[in-house]
Parts: sequence; structure tokens; C-alpha cells
Amino acid sequence: MKVIHDLNEIYAQLDFVRCDSKRIGLVPTMGALHEGHLSLVRRAKQDCDVVVATIFVNPTQFGPNEDLSKYPRTLESDMASLRLAECDFVFVPASDQIYRKEHSTYVDPPSVSTRWEGELRPGHFRGVATIVLKLFQLIPAHVAYFGRKDYQQVAVIRSMVDDLNVPIRIETCPTVREADGLAMSSRNRYLSEQDRPRALGLWRALCKAQSSLNAGIQSVAELEAAMHSELLAAQVDYVDYATIVHPDTLEPMMQVGESAVALIAAKVGSTRLIDNMTLLPPIQRSNEGSN
Ligand code: AMP
Repeated sequence: MKVIHDLNEIYAQLDFVRCDSKRIGLVPTMGALHEGHLSLVRRAKQDCDVVVATIFVNPTQFGPNEDLSKYPRTLESDMASLRLAECDFVFVPASDQIYRKEHSTYVDPPSVSTRWEGELRPGHFRGVATIVLKLFQLIPAHVAYFGRKDYQQVAVIRSMVDDLNVPIRIETCPTVREADGLAMSSRNRYLSEQDRPRALGLWRALCKAQSSLNAGIQSVAELEAAMHSELLAAQVDYVDYATIVHPDTLEPMMQVGESAVALIAAKVGSTRLIDNMTLLPPIQRSNEGSN
């Protein structure tokens, strides 16, 4: 596995690989890797000849009161995990390489960024869209892999790629969960022993939405109320949103028809968690299981 810090070198190395007609898969991350990240690397290994992971804690996607300085940095164990997953290249740039002193150009994110995370974290998706587009320019990959765990983020990236004609395919991979259902996240390490069982409230609320739908409830207001009561019962500290929206536009809906997605953001202790589940009509749900 080659570890590269320099942006000219990563482009040069991969341009060479690409000229050799090899397919390149890209897995962007902020490090503090867990099985969720590694599942993306494994999936990329299946599809592509050469896999590049990036580790960069992107400052422009953090708000002034967010956890940029506290964000976990575990570079040594990240490298060991990527080596085990047989990743071919790891790109670990320094912040001043990515954002030169004069940096002043940002991507104005698409309309799907407006609600939910976009509303609660002003500037977040502007930072995400900007870093992802930069990585797409620096790394001439054929396919980029993202986790469904960050549902709105993938929607933003897909929309950006379509709008700006970026020549890359976006693959979305299923959310990897702990045995009890908690979605893996770099931030889970901040959950205290008391927080950990309460954090499961998000998964329980998502399952409640699906089971209520299975029981014939299609009114979004009722399904959202069921999610909120599950979150309350689990004693999560604060619910930013627990909502059911159109799976493509992320706009609110009145009734669940063909398909919908349930999105939750909630605080447990001082840790903010997000999770989601694609809600399918009962017959489809028994055949699929791609959350
Ligand atoms: P992050 O390091 O949090 O920016 O995440 C890097 C990538 O890993 C993003 O595409 C995330 O959606 C994805 N990811 C994070 N957690 C999970 C998970 N539990 N399952 C699958 N993918 C994940």
C-alpha cells in the first residue's frame, strides 16, 4: 500500500494507472476508520483494479461550534486497517495542501442540500461539495464509493456530479451496523456507557417507522409521531429531526407511497448522531434489505 501526502504525486501516480486501462475506485474518508469505511474499500476492491482511500478531516464542512478540533484522529490504526483491506493507495494530504492560503472558490451545493443537515449545519454541504469535487479532480477515479449512512450527503454528491458533468460514477453502499443495530460512526467512540443504550433509540425509531408502515399506517404524520415516541422512550437527549421524506428530493411528504426514506438526527449526551432507513411497502421489504 502506497501512502501519499503530496497532491501532485497522487495525480501523477494515478494518471499512470489510468493510462494502463485500469479501473480506479475512490473511497473518501475523514479517518477514524471502522467497518463501515472498510466495507466501502472492500466493495471498491471487488469492482476496481486499483483502490484509493483518502483521509482528510475537511475543515470547511465543520461549523464554528462543531467538533473539528475534537474530531478523532487515529492515523496509525487507520493505516493498519487499510493495509489489511488491501487498499492500494492512501492519500493523506496536509490541510494547507488542499486549501492554499488564497483559497476562495467553493461549490454552491444543489437544492437537495437545503433542508435537514443543510438547515441545521449552515455551510456544511458547501464544504462537503467543495472537498469532494477537489478530490475528484485530484484523483482521476472511475467510481467513488459513499455510505448510505450519510443519506443526504450522497444525494448532494450525486446531484453535484450530474449538474457539473463530473465524469465519475457514484456508488452508494449499505450502512454497516453494530450487532444491535447502531449505525457505525467515528463519533460513536464519544458515547459514554450511559449514552450507548440510549443511542440505540435512533435504530429503534427507524424500525418502528417500518413496522408501523407494515401494519398499514401510511400517514407520514403518524409515522413521524411513532418515531418521536420511540426516541422519547429511549431517552435520547434532543431530536433535531425525525422525518419521512421523498427518497430523491428529500422533500417532506404526506403519505408513504412507493418508497420513502426516514431520516433522524439526534443528540445523545454531547454526541450528535444521524441515521436513516429506506422505507418500502411491506412486500418489497421482505425481499430487499439494503439499509
Ligand atoms: P466519514 O469518514 O464519516 O466522512 O465517512 C466516510 C465515508 O464512509 C462516507 O461515505 C460515509 O457515508 C461512509 N460511512 C460512514 N459510516 C458508515 C457506515 N456505518 N456504513 C457504511 N458507510 C459508512
